[in-house]
Amino acid sequence: MNDAFFASHIRTIADWPQPGVQFRDITPLLRDGAAFRRLIDAFAERYADSHIDAVVGIDARGFIIGAALAYRLGCGFIPVRKAGKLPFTTMQESYALEYGEASIEVHTDAALPGEHVLIIDDLIATGGTLLAAVNLMTRLGARIIEAAAVVDLPELGGSARLAEAGLPAFTLLHY
Ligand code: IMP
Repeated sequence: MNDAFFASHIRTIADWPQPGVQFRDITPLLRDGAAFRRLIDAFAERYADSHIDAVVGIDARGFIIGAALAYRLGCGFIPVRKAGKLPFTTMQESYALEYGEASIEVHTDAALPGEHVLIIDDLIATGGTLLAAVNLMTRLGARIIEAAAVVDLPELGGSARLAEAGLPAFTLLHY
C-alpha cells in the first residue's frame, strides 16, 4: 500500500540524526487530529476481527500508535522498551539499527503462551527492531498475528527480512 494521504502528513528531515540519513518524521501526522484518527482507524479496520489479546508497541513511537490502537480494539497493550527501563523481570534481545546498536526488553509475564498479539512500530528500516520484538514474543510463546508499521523503507531490506522469517509486515506507505 502507498497511501498518499498519510504520506502528505510525514516530513523528511535530511541528515538526521546522522549525515546521509533521510529521517521520516511522523509527528505532523500525530499533530493533526483528523489524520491521527484516520491512521488508527486504518489499523483498527484491518485488525477488527483478528481477536487480538494485546498490541505490542515498540519504544517510543510504537507506544503512541499502539496504545491508541489497543484502546480502539478494546485489547491490552504491551510495552517493548529500550534496555533498562522496565521494573519487573525482563527478557532481552539485541539487534543492529540503521544507525547504531540497541537492545529491547519485555516483562517476562507480558504475554501468556498462545495469546494473540499484534506488533506495531512507526517505521521499518532494516527490520532489526521488529525482528527483535518478534523474537521476544516468540520466546514468550505468544502467537503473532502480524507485524505492522506506518512506514516501510524497502530499500533497507527490513520488510523482506520479516517476510523471510515468515511474518510479512503490513505498512501504510513506503519510500
Ligand atoms: P530498524 O530496526 O532498522 O528497522 O529501524 C526501525 C526503528 O528505528 C524504529 O523503531 C523506528 O522508530 C526507528 N527509525 C529508523 N529510521 C527512522 C526514520 O527515518 N524515521 C523514524 N524512525 C526511524
